[in-house]
Amino acid sequence: MVKRRRTHTVTAGTVKIGSRYPIVIQSMVKLATTDVARCVKQVNSLAMAGARLVRIAVPTAKDSAAFAKIVQKVKVPLIADIHFSPERAIEAIEAGAAKIRLNPGNIKNKKDISRIIDCAKANKVAIRIGINEASIRNLFDDTPQRKRTSLMLKEMAGYIRLFEKKGFNNIVLSVKSSDVTRTIESNLAVAEKFDYPLHLGLTHAGLAQDAIIPASVAIGSLLQQGIGDTIRISIAGDPIGEVEIAKKILASLGLYEINEPHLIVCPTCGRCEWDLISFAERVKKLLKDVKKPLRIAVMGCVVNGPGEAADADIAICAAAGKGFIYKRGRKIATVKQAQLFAALKKEIENLA
Ligand code: SF4
Repeated sequence: MVKRRRTHTVTAGTVKIGSRYPIVIQSMVKLATTDVARCVKQVNSLAMAGARLVRIAVPTAKDSAAFAKIVQKVKVPLIADIHFSPERAIEAIEAGAAKIRLNPGNIKNKKDISRIIDCAKANKVAIRIGINEASIRNLFDDTPQRKRTSLMLKEMAGYIRLFEKKGFNNIVLSVKSSDVTRTIESNLAVAEKFDYPLHLGLTHAGLAQDAIIPASVAIGSLLQQGIGDTIRISIAGDPIGEVEIAKKILASLGLYEINEPHLIVCPTCGRCEWDLISFAERVKKLLKDVKKPLRIAVMGCVVNGPGEAADADIAICAAAGKGFIYKRGRKIATVKQAQLFAALKKEIENLA
């Protein structure tokens, strides 16, 4: 069981972020913000898929106007992604953003930051202070790797002080890099130093097939240590995929319940005397429409079959033309291998 780090609680519209609240999955719209109708559709699809916050880029005044229309028509609180312009931040807050993301690497003027804080405070809006390694690269010059984390922390601490001086603590923090080890190290350091909720992400992770493993390692490693209060999986691709991956990472650590079956399949080895892979693929198809968190195990032989069966709702293993069916650890049938699929199907349908 993961023990979550204690943090402040942050309020972003109807969503609470912080230690005692469930980890919030978020994603980002990947369309031009001025394409209001398609943005609304994408936000609502993300909400249906499981995103509880959705971020939208607001780079120009036209985007601010579009953001104001989108915010009226969507089913989840929105985060405005702001870079360079304090005006965009204020426009987005006044338009109804639940949260804005500011980058200390590109909004530095204290008077500007002060205006944004006043506006966020008056409108009860949350702010993520999000440092991306790439956006403060100018700080680093030839700085050795090991000193970069302390530079990022220093930058973060200076920024946070401006907010705290004004009594504003509806703050989420993030430090992102495209490097797994640096992401883990810098987030551990931030978690150690500040007690604000943390937004986790591995930035610029790549196409889905390249991004899934590094993102899962970086974010999963931190979550397992109790660190992380909201997550976004950055992939170059359909944002629904970001939400699906986020749900799977959280579910693998017992931090999210996915209402769908989990199919356990042994990798096979020289002891396997039947075509387990084709069988498992048929089972996978069978489970497609099941909306229950069942654990189904398909095992190649009797070596690990009975052991895995103990943890599964239904498990099968086969050997020498026979198959054994287990229900919640108890052997309930021995059938000819040719009848194994039909027998398993019947048991799954009884539980589904
Ligand atoms: S369950 Fe049996 S067949 Fe499958 S990997 Fe283990 S030993 Fe090999």
